[in-house]
Amino acid sequence: MSMRRNAATAPAVEPDTAGPPLAELAARNAEFEAGGGRAAEIVDWVARTYAPNAVLACSFGLEDCVLVDLASRHGQGVTAFYLDTQLLFPETYATRDHLAERYGVRFVAIRPVKDVEQQAQTHGPALWRRDPDLCCRLRKVEPLQAHLSGQRAWITGIRREQSPARAGAPYVGWDDRFGLVKANPLAGWTAQDVWDYVRRQDVPHNPLHAQGYPSIGCWPCTRAVRPGEPPRAGRWSGRGKTECGLHA
Ligand code: SF4
Repeated sequence: MSMRRNAATAPAVEPDTAGPPLAELAARNAEFEAGGGRAAEIVDWVARTYAPNAVLACSFGLEDCVLVDLASRHGQGVTAFYLDTQLLFPETYATRDHLAERYGVRFVAIRPVKDVEQQAQTHGPALWRRDPDLCCRLRKVEPLQAHLSGQRAWITGIRREQSPARAGAPYVGWDDRFGLVKANPLAGWTAQDVWDYVRRQDVPHNPLHAQGYPSIGCWPCTRAVRPGEPPRAGRWSGRGKTECGLHA
C-alpha cells in the first residue's frame, strides 16, 4: 500500500524490545483522548512508529473504507489485508476492487488452511450453522493470528457505539490476545461521522449498506437489520453470537 507520510503531529514511541509498552501506550491514548481522537493523527502515529510492521485490517465495511482513505494520506508503509473466508458477499469483493483501483492499494488476502469444501469434508457441510464459533476460529481467528504474529501493530475500524462489547475500546492499547499494539482510530466516531466522511471524500463503499446491512460479514451469517434493531443485529442472528473472536 503506497501511502504518503503526513507531517508529524505527535512524537513517536521508541520501538519496544522488553515487552508490551503499556505505560507508553496509556500515555499516548490519553493524549489522543484529550485531543478528541483525531483519526488521521492516530493513523499517522501508528505508521511513523511501527511501519513497516503495521497492518490495517480491512473487512470492507464502511469504517474500513474510511481507514483505507485515511491510510492513503497518513499511513505510509502500512499494509492492508483482509480475511478472505471465501464466504464474502460478491458486493464485498467488488468493494475491494473499487478501493484498490481508487487508492492503488494491494489488499493482502489472508485465507484459511482449508477451503470451504475441505472444511466440509472434515467438519461436515455448513459448519457455520452448527458451530459458528469453530467456523470463525478456523476461517478468521487462526489465519489472523498467523498473520499478526510477525507484526507490531494493527489498525482496526471498531467504534465504541457499535456494541456494548466495544464501548470501552481505546484509541491505542495493547492487544493481549494477539500480542501487539492495537489502534482504533475511529473508536470515538458515530455512524453519522462515518457516513459524513464517506460522502465528503466520496469513498467507495459496499452497496449493501444502502440495502439495510450496517454490518457486513460472511453471507451465511449476515442479514439485513429491521428498523430499530442495533447495527450488528444482522450478524449471526438468532445464534447467540455477537463477535467473530477477532476483537476481545
Ligand atoms: S462469519 Fe459465519 S461463515 Fe464466516 S467464518 Fe464466522 S461462522 Fe463461518
